[in-house]
Amino acid sequence: MSRILILGGTTEAVALAKDLAAKPGIDAIYSLAGRTRAPTLPDCTIRTGGFGGINGLTRYLKENHIAAVIDATHPYAEQMAGHAQAATKVTEIPLFKFLRPAWREPADTSWHHVATAADAARIIDGKFSRVFLSSGLKDLTAFSHLPDIWFLVRSVDMPDTPIALPQHHHVAARGPFTEEGETDLLRTWQIDALVTKNSGGAATAAKLEAARALAIAIIVIDRPANLEPTPYTDVKGLLESVSQTLG
Ligand code: NAP
Repeated sequence: MSRILILGGTTEAVALAKDLAAKPGIDAIYSLAGRTRAPTLPDCTIRTGGFGGINGLTRYLKENHIAAVIDATHPYAEQMAGHAQAATKVTEIPLFKFLRPAWREPADTSWHHVATAADAARIIDGKFSRVFLSSGLKDLTAFSHLPDIWFLVRSVDMPDTPIALPQHHHVAARGPFTEEGETDLLRTWQIDALVTKNSGGAATAAKLEAARALAIAIIVIDRPANLEPTPYTDVKGLLESVSQTLG
């Protein structure tokens, strides 16, 4: 029996875990950070919560006799990806990386590309007054010094602590979102700029087309450049490679 640890938190990670769990000779463990209150889960062993840094993950891999690790976390889960690289290097356990293809900028649209949420805050300061922050709750403090901007904040869950933005409205919603729904949201709240990560995937892409059609400025926080090992962008290809490696 080969035990495989899947670092999850994405739709594709759930699909990967489901496929792996159905294979004979595989014991799939699906790992979550534990941030989402009612996550979608595959039918396999689930573990929740951080490992305790690189050392904690290294210990976990050894103690649980993990044969391979699949990092299928979100493209912006940079820390977990780095820890997986380091711990699998130390333990000499094969690491496979899944990365959703990024969204592409349409030829007739001009996205403002920035590297960080702080850069996005600098871009919108003084230029926009009603901004849709669609990128979750993690980076909101980067915008907390902008008292003249009203923010629409969307995340899957309600925040545990008050949102530290001077003027805002929060909506809790889980994708997939439709273009019609996103257009309605942008119009209702009179949004003049959208700040988003380049998450990729179909579930949350509709906001980009809706914003483009309404000529709303689109500020994209580009993906972190963390491409080790070379990522797979399709679940099937990754699973084939895992099977070949484990023999
Ligand atoms: P992160 O900054 O890369 O990770 C922070 C810490 O959270 C890690 O060092 C680790 O703690 C723990 N962690 C993260 N992913 C984990 C997993 N799958 N299993 C166990 N522990 C995990 O991660 P993040 O950006 O906060 O994302 C957290 C989770 O939400 C991930 O599963 C990710 O796939 C998902 N997610 C993230 C985003 C996003 O925009 N960042 C969007 C959608 C979903 P220890 O150091 O203690 O091991």
